[in-house]
Amino acid sequence: MSSNDSDGIRIDDPHNFPPQEDHYERLWTPQRMSYVLRDKSEEDRGNNNQNDSANTKSCPFCDALTKTDEDGLIVWRGKNVFIIMNLYPYNSGHVMVCPKEHVAMLTDLHDDVVILEFEKATQLAMTVMRNVSRPDGFNLGVNQGEAGGAGVATHLHQHIVPRWNGDSNFMPIVAQTRTMPILLENQRVAYAQEAARIANEFGL
Ligand SMILES: [Zn+2]
Repeated sequence: MSSNDSDGIRIDDPHNFPPQEDHYERLWTPQRMSYVLRDKSEEDRGNNNQNDSANTKSCPFCDALTKTDEDGLIVWRGKNVFIIMNLYPYNSGHVMVCPKEHVAMLTDLHDDVVILEFEKATQLAMTVMRNVSRPDGFNLGVNQGEAGGAGVATHLHQHIVPRWNGDSNFMPIVAQTRTMPILLENQRVAYAQEAARIANEFGL
């Protein structure tokens, strides 16, 4: 419905605008993008210089690689890529697959061997989750650049989130709740043991 005032200007009735709510679930909203803990703020914000060695020092993913698996929350280490737990999971068991090289974009992965290992490690992570946690489905996602919602924009990481039927209602609660480290560590150990057991099935 529209109305006309005395000057003949048509004013659209805001009630006729398309509805704002579309009832789609949005899993990858930026406000939930608090990935791997630690000081991600300064080095990421406004700084999207991929391959900048200065960034590597303050990168949480590069930093994790220098630690023990337990301290770095690492599930599995391959030749060129690794799997790491997300400290602030969207859902229980949320992991990420990352290249060891500090590159920002998927398009920065030029080596076919690395690209293949990245995808195989994704398959490995999904299979580990299936065997350990029996999810009904998965969300895979790569947020590229800050505008794309990447919390750590300088180091490529693919999210793998296990999903269970009916879990969407508690997702916001989970996303805003810190997981207790001991539970996260229990999950990491279970995943790490399974990954070690089956990695060779993927040629890894
Ligand atoms: Zn890095």
